[in-house]
Amino acid sequence: MTTILQSTLSNIAIILFMYLCISILVSNRKMINKYLFSASVLIITSASVVTLFYLPIRYGDYQFDLRLVPLVIFSLLLGWKHAIPALLIAVSWRLGLGGVGALPGVFFGMILPVFLALLFYKKEKAMPGPGTLFMLMTICWLISDIPILFLVPNGVDVFKEIYMVRLLALQVSALILYFFIFQLNREVELKRKLRFYAERDPLTGLYNMRYFENRIKKSSYDQKNYIVMIDIDYFKKINDTFGHLNGDMVLKNVAVTLGKIIPSQKSLLGRYGGEEFILCLEADSKEQLMKIVSDIRSGIESTPFYAENKKLTITVSIGVSELTHPTQLYQAIEKADNSLYASKQNGRNQISYAI
Ligand code: GH3
Ligand code: MG
Ligand code: MG
Repeated sequence: MTTILQSTLSNIAIILFMYLCISILVSNRKMINKYLFSASVLIITSASVVTLFYLPIRYGDYQFDLRLVPLVIFSLLLGWKHAIPALLIAVSWRLGLGGVGALPGVFFGMILPVFLALLFYKKEKAMPGPGTLFMLMTICWLISDIPILFLVPNGVDVFKEIYMVRLLALQVSALILYFFIFQLNREVELKRKLRFYAERDPLTGLYNMRYFENRIKKSSYDQKNYIVMIDIDYFKKINDTFGHLNGDMVLKNVAVTLGKIIPSQKSLLGRYGGEEFILCLEADSKEQLMKIVSDIRSGIESTPFYAENKKLTITVSIGVSELTHPTQLYQAIEKADNSLYASKQNGRNQISYAI
């Protein structure tokens, strides 16, 4: 009894250690190169399969291992891109060790369960429920253990002796791993939402001023940078005619359109407030700057926007100034705002430069 408890606990400890490594990787995913991430997942999964094999659960005169668990769960949650390479490593290693049980062990205990789990993998979808996992683990247990009946001498007796313990060990350890990964997923999603709302304006999804300011402060400048203030012309009319909610939709669509027009590299787009947007733009030359700003003005004018199925033509007035240094952001904004005011005074739908 003590032996089985000890060996089961050591197996669970390996599975949890593997989870811990994966959770560190997942929590820092943004900072890790995607190939390094995949390689690390691969190493952790295959290393845990190998370790589980070396620390089998001892039950009376029998011993069995839980390598099925990481293989099935990671196939189910990460898909073939991660599962197949890990499977290849684990299979080659097991075949390399040799022995009578190698070939059936690899085929029934590793390859078939992984392919079965991959059938349940849903890209970009929520994790499958614990019921699916229970069913999958039961089928995988059947696939891997039914051959005992035919391939092992006295197979029926062996199967009868171990089937309960084996099924229980597999289900419990799979459920533990699943539960921790489920918690990890929730945490990652919560962090993603928190970061989104801390950095972005909830209506347009553009950066808010706090994030905009911090990013400018942190950046190093080799090229010339410019601040571009963009204000929608006569926006109040849209609110007055179609209501605030329709006004919100238009504002959102203008933000989306700006995002499409503005080259995403070397630029930072934010919502300054109300119906005014702010852009920090890196440009090689004044000509390049003027071309981009002119594209913004004409791009908005030529895009049809809709409110209550009515087509609207929207124009923007723009003011541009030079950002001489990251610390001079608010001076640059003031200058660009004054230019924007000049654009409004001169009849709107135009650009004024203070450079
Ligand atoms: P101008 O051409 O001089 O810029 O005219 P305008 O009507 O666009 O400018 P004004 O500053 O007079 O009005 C801006 C309007 O934008 C007033 C405000 O109700 C509206 N607004 C500000 N923020 C929001 C928002 O988040 N949603 C909606 N629907 N309207 C907003
Ligand atoms: Mg306006
Ligand atoms: Mg305004």
